[in-house]
Amino acid sequence: MEKKLEKGGSIDRLMPGKLKMKNLPAEKELPDLSMHNSHMAKVLTLDIYKTLKERKTSFGFTIDRVIQPGVDNPGNPFTMTMGCVAGDEDSYEVFKELFDPVIEDKHRGYKPTDMHKTDLNPDGLVGGDDLDPNYVLISRVRAIRSIRDFCFPAQCTRGERRLVEKLSIEVLNSLTGDLQGKYYSLKNMSEEEQQQMIEQHLLFPKPVCPLLLASGIARDWPDGRGIWHNSSKTFSVWVNEEDHLKLMSVEKGGNMKAAFSCFCCGIKEVESAFKEKGHAFMWNEHLGFIMSCPSNLGTGLRAGVHIKLPNLGNHPNFDEILKRLRLEKRRTGGADTDADAIFDISNADRLGVSEVQLLQMVVDGVKLLVEMEKKLEMEESIDDMMPTQK
Ligand code: ADP
Ligand code: MG
Repeated sequence: MEKKLEKGGSIDRLMPGKLKMKNLPAEKELPDLSMHNSHMAKVLTLDIYKTLKERKTSFGFTIDRVIQPGVDNPGNPFTMTMGCVAGDEDSYEVFKELFDPVIEDKHRGYKPTDMHKTDLNPDGLVGGDDLDPNYVLISRVRAIRSIRDFCFPAQCTRGERRLVEKLSIEVLNSLTGDLQGKYYSLKNMSEEEQQQMIEQHLLFPKPVCPLLLASGIARDWPDGRGIWHNSSKTFSVWVNEEDHLKLMSVEKGGNMKAAFSCFCCGIKEVESAFKEKGHAFMWNEHLGFIMSCPSNLGTGLRAGVHIKLPNLGNHPNFDEILKRLRLEKRRTGGADTDADAIFDISNADRLGVSEVQLLQMVVDGVKLLVEMEKKLEMEESIDDMMPTQK
């Protein structure tokens, strides 16, 4: 019912303070996660919630915002999601009672005292330039980077997101030589242009995943979002997609080494160009590169191929093989996915292993997958080719 002020009456009951919810105790606010499957749901207890309930990061992020994606998405018994998100760099420290065990659970027992290593020297990668292009259609390396002093997309305001975009445009447009390129704002692109870029694997689709929506990452779409790429389209940077920056190299065919070399060169130049403007990437010795989803911490790297595996993809041991090789499969999107049995295969790990080590796992693993596929084509058994657990 509309509140009306009676003539001569007190306005006390109309004051905003009176309409505020009471600050209820943790027991009354704790979400019911009993039927949930996420790393967050697995580790969150009443005690942890009590400890964190009144805390805020310097940008004002709270534990309820951290856990919201998981609270709204129970998941299913077959897929373990993260169920939590960071709002800023401080979140990992302020809410460490939750994030530390989540990180340990997700990243193969990675402890709060463990140190991460970064290695972006492509010379360290052995092989990887000769993955069979009859099977490996595209090789791609991408990594996420966050710009220090800005909060993450889950917490930033429209204005702050636009500042990240403005700074990124300035920095990217200052690159020269092979890295000279152009920025395309998503807002100014026609549907047609967008579709064309998506088909060239250059553009990102609008996030539709319920976890991302619940975290607030996709707010105000497409404001502040865009893509920059160099003239030869070998190196591109997505701005304000799920994180501040996603930098990538895409190569047709099976030359993952070339994609990695181009990626390393590009990312180093972009990093120093940001530094020149007074903005470092978020990084520390324990977490490596820091970003909003704890699953990406460390390298933020996904090196992947689109690969045709019509036989192996239907083999009963396919998932076990991938698990042993520390590889992950994703759908490739598009209408042809299942019919052509094209898989997106990439590294499963991110933290506690270097970029070069991850690339090595991917190229060695993909090589084996191609060999297995060829065997199955000839209707031979792959039983003696089963890898051991990496
Ligand atoms: P990311 O981990 O970078 O967010 P997604 O699975 O969300 O990757 O895919 C984002 C876009 O990148 C999609 O349009 C997808 O088709 C494209 N993509 C991902 N991996 C590859 C690859 N190996 N080759 C070509 N395009 C890819
Ligand atoms: Mg994505």
